[in-house]
Amino acid sequence: MTNGRKDAMSKNLAWKILFVAVLVLLAVAAAVPIIRHTRFRYPVVVGPGVTRVARLSDFGPGLKGTRADTNVYVLEGREPGGKALIIANTHPNEPAGLLAALIFLENAEVDKGTLYVIPNFNRSAGLDTKPGDGYPHFYRIPTPWGEKTFRYGSRDASPLDQWPDPDVFIHYPDRQLLSFIDARNTNRTWPGRPNGLLMERVTFAAMELLRNNQVDVAIDLHGAETMFPVTNCIVAPQSASRLATRVALFVKAREKFDSHVEPSPYGFRGLSHREIGDYSDTLPFLLEAPIPFLDQPTGPKTEKLLLDGRDPFLLKLSERGKLFVPYDETGWPIDKRVGQHVSVMLEIFAQYSRQTPERSLSLRGVPRYADIVKNGTGYYFHDPKKADASRVYEE
Ligand SMILES: [Zn+2]
Repeated sequence: MTNGRKDAMSKNLAWKILFVAVLVLLAVAAAVPIIRHTRFRYPVVVGPGVTRVARLSDFGPGLKGTRADTNVYVLEGREPGGKALIIANTHPNEPAGLLAALIFLENAEVDKGTLYVIPNFNRSAGLDTKPGDGYPHFYRIPTPWGEKTFRYGSRDASPLDQWPDPDVFIHYPDRQLLSFIDARNTNRTWPGRPNGLLMERVTFAAMELLRNNQVDVAIDLHGAETMFPVTNCIVAPQSASRLATRVALFVKAREKFDSHVEPSPYGFRGLSHREIGDYSDTLPFLLEAPIPFLDQPTGPKTEKLLLDGRDPFLLKLSERGKLFVPYDETGWPIDKRVGQHVSVMLEIFAQYSRQTPERSLSLRGVPRYADIVKNGTGYYFHDPKKADASRVYEE
């Protein structure tokens, strides 16, 4: 071999090494923020109402040891009474529900009845993100003691926890054919089964919680696009529609915000508001608050848009009558969305208690819509540094 050929080969090799090194560097640079996101935990300072913390796997052992297992906070009242379950982060990319549930956890005191709260229902999705959709990894809520940071999650469970996806998701037990991605969507896998896909085990465990504890009311908290017709509303099946209507009328008259009632579609399976009603004695409600961030035709998907809901493109579409909610330059601030969720939940409990006094649920310490809009959501979160360590949990 001539020296010239040797030189050319080593030069070639050097280029190859450089190329691989750059690829590795790019991969590491891309992975570090994702790893930081998935490992991030935020503290929850549980209030005086929380009497114990269970795990969802206590109700469905098929979740034990998986990343889908999640905390179930229990607030037992001084007197027995009705029981309710609040579920947030079924879709962890819809944060108003999580923040509303945390306001209950950190502040509620229960006089009568029992409240169960699952703040991270699809925990696997909450540990994931959607880089392809430009999702911010975190969002920060101002509090009197500084900013509180939360992970911004994905809509569907992480493929790290449930994979591979089927070509078509066959709903259990109705055998309705749903989109493949719905196999990882915990608002399509109800009522679930004990030995099914991981997300079917999540919803099955929640069904067991409802059935074994004779829970009266279940509320699943969501956010929906302003261009989607089912938004800013309470979705309820026939059995719960009278109560939902009374709730909508009361919040409109007393608190001056709209939240209309949408019937739970009979033929569309897998949704919480359909299957909980069909497979247990619990009355289900699904609350949707508008979330402009999730609309397709918006500007950049920033943390600011996620929190203030202000977007010039949506404003233009609103002027052309394309949105299903009122929309002006004030957008849809997170405090308004959280406040609506909290007030609608309090009103569901109040109306249910009025209708069924022997199963009433009575609690205090939770602010209503006007308070949350005035003071901000973060006003109701407590400083973990000043709290008793035994009352601080990680989510
Ligand atoms: Zn949702």
